[in-house]
Amino acid sequence: MTTLDRDVVIIGAGPSGLTAAYELRKAGKTVAVLEARDRVGGRTWTQDMDGATIEIGGQWISPDQTGLYSLIEELGIETFERHKEGASVYLAEDGTRTVYSGEDFPVGESTVAEMNRLIAEMDRLTTEVNPDAPWEHPQAEELDKISFHHWLRNISGDEVACNNVGLFIAGGMLTKPAHTFSALQALLMSASAGSFSNLVDEDFILDRRIVGTMQGVSIALAERLGEDVFLNNPVLKLDWSDAGVTAHGADVSVNAKKVIVAVPPNLYSRISYNPPLPRRQHVTHQHQSMGLVIKVHAVYETPFWREEGLSGTCFGPSAIVQEVYDNTYHGESTGTLVGFISDTQADAMFALDEAARKEAILKGIAGFLGDKALDPEVFYLSDFAAEEWTRGAYATSYDLGGLFRFGPDQNKNVGPIYFSSSDLAGEGYQHVDGAVRMGRRTAARIVAAVDG
Ligand code: FAD
Repeated sequence: MTTLDRDVVIIGAGPSGLTAAYELRKAGKTVAVLEARDRVGGRTWTQDMDGATIEIGGQWISPDQTGLYSLIEELGIETFERHKEGASVYLAEDGTRTVYSGEDFPVGESTVAEMNRLIAEMDRLTTEVNPDAPWEHPQAEELDKISFHHWLRNISGDEVACNNVGLFIAGGMLTKPAHTFSALQALLMSASAGSFSNLVDEDFILDRRIVGTMQGVSIALAERLGEDVFLNNPVLKLDWSDAGVTAHGADVSVNAKKVIVAVPPNLYSRISYNPPLPRRQHVTHQHQSMGLVIKVHAVYETPFWREEGLSGTCFGPSAIVQEVYDNTYHGESTGTLVGFISDTQADAMFALDEAARKEAILKGIAGFLGDKALDPEVFYLSDFAAEEWTRGAYATSYDLGGLFRFGPDQNKNVGPIYFSSSDLAGEGYQHVDGAVRMGRRTAARIVAAVDG
């Protein structure tokens, strides 16, 4: 066992922990980062599969994500545009397939009008919500008592419009059914992206990708931190007092003045704190839970859908695969599709054996793009929920009433213990941008506390 002395120890080498460590180092502090996995990047992860670059976790960046943009500029990393040209495909609940262009789903005039009214109402309320403190909204308590599902149906009688608008936050972002989280939580999600309209507009929210992939951002940070990043070192025990901390990894222990716990909130209780955390944190951390989504990749010899004038973008709010996009990596001649299977549909898929699951998912994609989709060269299903050091995807959110009740305390440090992750962010919440913003903010708070 190696024992090190540092100003700050960081638990978790995801984008938040690594950004914090990088900023602390720039401010003249000594750091050590202890990471449980044998790689950096956390929920961002890339693999080469038969020559195709597959981003298993986070990958897209949108124009408002200026925290991440400024970091990659500093690191000399560039972006490329996602393939967007061509028409989209919509699959209605009754299985009707429609090829369409423009932003509105092909759901009939009155439902389009109703969807636009609901989107406008979400946009109006979003302007009143501070993403860093949604619990301060004058109606926060009321909005946190009602599920997003019921809130939508209280203001609209159009079931298709409610389902489709709900999808942008439920299946699309929090990856939980809309009846399990509140209208306030939905408003935090839209405030974190600037507006609800930004979430609806896939060309905005899924605008660009990173040359070298999103995990490459963490790899670049880790390179700069060099020998101060320790892989295969899960921290399961943390001794702390006002004087400092000792974080115990597998073969490295670090004594430090402060610690940043840069792991998702659902994993805070994986660490044994000595003495225990205060009651408030014990309770708070039990109300933040991960969503569940399967990100599935299918790689084909060519992007055949483009030849048919299709962009590869498909939506089916009631389908097994609710969203599909062209996910061909920069410069590759093969064609890659990515699909998302969220919450209860993911439960249903995981209830099948592997062969039946693959068949059902490919049939789902073929329902949008035709039988050519049935036979990919590579098929890969990401399963972050099965991973010990994540346990879900994309990120955590509160249960009904939890955001108003516990949110105000989520970013408070406990003596020398600070928390940082995309899950605690305002702007960029649940995204790499939020992880970076939180990393910077937490580093600045620690520098201010240490330097007085
Ligand atoms: P993480 O990335 O989870 O990093 C936490 C790190 O802590 C991990 O490396 C973990 O191994 C480590 N750890 C955990 N417990 C311990 C312990 N006890 N000791 C030591 N180490 C520990 N975001 C986007 O911006 N765009 C997207 O397109 C996008 N798509 C996504 C798709 C998927 C499938 C997933 C899963 C996520 C996606 N996200 C996306 C979200 C984004 O990846 C996360 O918000 C971001 O990675 C969070 O960074 P973080 O540093 O807060 O946490």
